[in-house]
Amino acid sequence: MQIPCLACESRFWPDDYFRACSDYNRGLDLVSWTCPSCGNRDDLRVLPGELGFGYPCRGRFDVHARVRVPGLRRQRGDLRLDISLDTACWRVPSRIRPLSSAAAGSARRLHRAL
Ligand SMILES: [Zn+2]
Repeated sequence: MQIPCLACESRFWPDDYFRACSDYNRGLDLVSWTCPSCGNRDDLRVLPGELGFGYPCRGRFDVHARVRVPGLRRQRGDLRLDISLDTACWRVPSRIRPLSSAAAGSARRLHRAL
C-alpha cells in the first residue's frame, strides 16, 4: 500500500515514506516527517497499525488524524525509534543536542538478518 502526504496528497511507498522521517522525540513520542514531494513538515506518531497526525499542545501531542498502515509496528529505544513493516525496518534517531551535522540524521533502512 502507499501512504499519502496530507498536504499535497502525493502517495509514497513505505520505504520512501519512512526514509523521510527524522528526529524521534521520545518525550512527545513523535517523529518529524518532511514530504519528499512538497517539502511540508509534519509531526506524526507511529502506532501499531496506523500513523497518527496532530500537533504538540501544552507538553503533549494531540492526534487529530489517523492513517491506517496494516502491519505497522514500532519499538522505542533510548535514542531512537525502530519502525517495522513486513520485513523492512527503519531506524529514526533522536536528536540528542541542538541540531548539528551528525546528531540528527534521517531514518535509514535496515536489512534484517532473518
Ligand atoms: Zn507533500
